[in-house]
Amino acid sequence: MALIVQKFGGTSVSDAERIRAVADHVARTRRQGNDVVAVVSAMGNSTDDLLRLAGEVSSTAPPREIDMLLTAGERISMSLLCMALADVGIQAASFTGSQAGIITDTAHTRAKILDVRPDRLRAAIDAGIVPVVAGFQGVSTEKDITTLGRGGSDVTAVALAAALGADVCEIYTDVTGVFSADPRVVPSARRLSRISFEEMLEMAATGGRVLMLRSVEFARNHHVPLHVRSSFTWEPGTWVVEEEDSMEHAIVSAVTHDTSEAKVTVLGVPDQPGIAAKLFRALADRSVNVDMIVQNTSEHGTTDISFTVPRVDLATAVEVAESLRDDMKFTEVTSDASIARVSVIGAGMKSHPGVTATVFETLANEGINIEMISTSSIRISCVVDESQVEDAMRALHEAFELGG
Ligand code: ADP
Ligand code: ASP
Ligand code: MG
Repeated sequence: MALIVQKFGGTSVSDAERIRAVADHVARTRRQGNDVVAVVSAMGNSTDDLLRLAGEVSSTAPPREIDMLLTAGERISMSLLCMALADVGIQAASFTGSQAGIITDTAHTRAKILDVRPDRLRAAIDAGIVPVVAGFQGVSTEKDITTLGRGGSDVTAVALAAALGADVCEIYTDVTGVFSADPRVVPSARRLSRISFEEMLEMAATGGRVLMLRSVEFARNHHVPLHVRSSFTWEPGTWVVEEEDSMEHAIVSAVTHDTSEAKVTVLGVPDQPGIAAKLFRALADRSVNVDMIVQNTSEHGTTDISFTVPRVDLATAVEVAESLRDDMKFTEVTSDASIARVSVIGAGMKSHPGVTATVFETLANEGINIEMISTSSIRISCVVDESQVEDAMRALHEAFELGG
């Protein structure tokens, strides 16, 4: 008998019919002799709807209140799923994040899990009851309700699977697994039967939103087997596994894209020690997360520094840079919010030279200009104009023959 954590995303519980289908699946898993813990997201787009409502009543929207509001979404789905389970003869009980023992830090809207105390869930399981847990939420060390950041139900599921020593954490969503590219953008994308944690981390970090980045980090650190699969077809999906177990040693496994960042360029910076330190310290002090950084070669004693930041932080980043004008003696700050990043990811890249050349040639053949480049041992990312990113993805997907 296995212990299985099953997480159902927003589209998987978007209406009454979907909730009943999920209940049938949980019941089936239970009747096969397994213990089940279900984790649910808010129905459909209800988190976005709640955020919109908050924006309509308030321009300040204190983060503590945003969290209290948003956690209501997951409460609705957890109680409805328990009712649907009762109808199919399965004993179930709902638990908020707090009741499930998810203890977080105090960073509202992006809290990190510090500890999981699943005593109540354990007691329910032992009593033959299926705990249904509200995803995406916890209670802080100050006893306030917190949320874990968008897509955070994935983290709830993995954290509970780790704390309960579950045999597998199943992430049910609206696609049949992890694909070689977002199937909504690249119709020929192929479902991967296995992918390594290392590759999945790079995918999640570069826009492949099928799994939230922190959930993959958590699963890797705690050795939680992850299975991403469909709540529409219920067929086997993609296993995220340790690298030595990921049999498909493809040179390139996937192409991702991310349109959530913007670019800032500081022009005519004196090329002296300490200048970059000043700029990036000032950005860090305002909690602006810098991603890619490029510094041009120095000409006539000055240089240009470009970097990317989340689009939501663009105004702050420009303001921070401008505030250093007297100190840093640069000539100008420019910004561009319509950039996008396209990345190719593959563990086999480590031992195969020439991948970078193929990426650049492919983009050149499409007439796509590369504005910035960054690499890791298993990833190559290029910043391009946002209007060209989907063409870039399709061309790279084809160049590396990733299609099914
Ligand atoms: P959920 O609400 O179930 O958490 P998400 O919307 O967060 O679902 O994640 C699933 C979506 O991720 C899919 O509908 C798909 O469009 C998108 N996606 C992006 N990249 C990929 C990829 N490489 N493989 C599969 N899905 C992807
Ligand atoms: N409902 C939350 C969101 O939309 C959490 C989740 O779905 O994972 O971000
Ligand atoms: Mg998600």
